[in-house]
Amino acid sequence: MVDKKNLRTPIVSVMGHVDHGKTTLLDKIRGSSVAAGEAGAITQHIGATEVPIDVIVEKCGNPSLRERFVVPGLLFIDTPGHHAFTSLRSRGGALADLAIVVVDINEGFKPQTIESLQILKRFKTPFVVVANKIDRIHGWNPVPNASFLVSYNKQAEHVQQYLDNKFYEVIGELFNIGFNADRYDRIKDFQHTIGVIPISGHTGEGISDVLMVLLGLAQKFLEANLQYDASGPGVATVLEVKEERGLGTTVDLILYDGMLQKGDTIVLGSLGEPIQTKVRAILKPRPLSEIKSEEKFQQVDKVIAAVGIKISAPNLDGALAGTPLRVATAETIDKIVKDIKQEVDAVHIDTDTMGITIKADTIGSLEALVNELKKEEIAIRKADVGDITHRDIVEVSAIEESQYSVLVGFNVKILPDAKEKAQLSNIKLFVNDVIYRLIDDYKDWIEEQKE
Ligand code: GDP
Ligand code: MG
Repeated sequence: MVDKKNLRTPIVSVMGHVDHGKTTLLDKIRGSSVAAGEAGAITQHIGATEVPIDVIVEKCGNPSLRERFVVPGLLFIDTPGHHAFTSLRSRGGALADLAIVVVDINEGFKPQTIESLQILKRFKTPFVVVANKIDRIHGWNPVPNASFLVSYNKQAEHVQQYLDNKFYEVIGELFNIGFNADRYDRIKDFQHTIGVIPISGHTGEGISDVLMVLLGLAQKFLEANLQYDASGPGVATVLEVKEERGLGTTVDLILYDGMLQKGDTIVLGSLGEPIQTKVRAILKPRPLSEIKSEEKFQQVDKVIAAVGIKISAPNLDGALAGTPLRVATAETIDKIVKDIKQEVDAVHIDTDTMGITIKADTIGSLEALVNELKKEEIAIRKADVGDITHRDIVEVSAIEESQYSVLVGFNVKILPDAKEKAQLSNIKLFVNDVIYRLIDDYKDWIEEQKE
């Protein structure tokens, strides 16, 4: 029997193609949980939302479920802006314990849907697929917040049939990329079959089913991974590095193991030597009830995993999104500095050898790009984090071999003066927010050059 006290909240990432409904789904989960009221409030974190088990169970309308599940709830990550899920790593794998892949049932799979699934496959992260926007099916008669099956059974036969057809297209596309999948209620063994749940982020239909399946996956696959030492040294992943008025440079992070306290010595990744500093303040969002307050954040002295928080500390300039952050003591600090440096160096390449130059928005997305390029045996001269600058263009245009006079950017912008410079130079630029598109475009271009 697992000790309930030592199971942390599973971290859930919401992935999928832009506009397929990720934000709407999270808002609905948040909104209806707020409405669920008495069962205990949801907690807003920095970059994440926590839904306690009591709220989920109430939402599913079956309080007896409470006994079946030992996880304390679910922590949904609001993946910031354009950041790929790839940037959210923890030691040796994905930061998220579970994922939801959102696909618009009317549009089917798109490049980022496929990319999300490939990432989940690589990290072996358990996930569910939601076939969203069923309310847009012609003739759909919504039953707000109902379980999918309740709602489905109330639809006219031709509407059911249309949904079934669209649904099997999704199943077919999953099969094409190597996943066995079926409707969630027909699955006996979630180990070998991916559950697909038709939902609407607008009407709330099917959302209780999503929460139930996630809890089931957490229970089945994660119990051992979720055990942690609440009083151990904190371990986190940096989500974002941000300037805040009055606070200077701050970092937003997800603490996924142990404890973090004000005054703790921490080590975090940068492109040079890892940063060593002391936590000045731990900040959480102010509760909605205190919305009138001038201050955006509220200070706390101590937090325990899993939480999303912001910290302020001296010397955070140069901190890198996607890198680890760990609490250190006089005994452990040397080893931690070495480990973090190694982890960043494994990705950040700078050599004299011949190859292409690549840039990505975070250390995690850079790592994913480096891995894919290595698989294709494409040589890399330099791999760095950040937007494409004037200096990058100058450097790359000095390379004489045309096949290496190439700059590949993943999830980055081309800064205005760099754009001008690039137009005047002979370098080849590839910029995209889908990795395999970048690789395909590069390979196509190489083929063209040969002809
Ligand atoms: P994201 O880019 O994946 O976060 O997508 P959003 O949540 O921002 O949704 C994109 C658009 O689709 C918005 O206009 C939403 O209102 C709409 N949308 C999202 N979910 C649904 C749904 O279930 N039904 C309908 N009809 N529209 C939806
Ligand atoms: Mg969104």
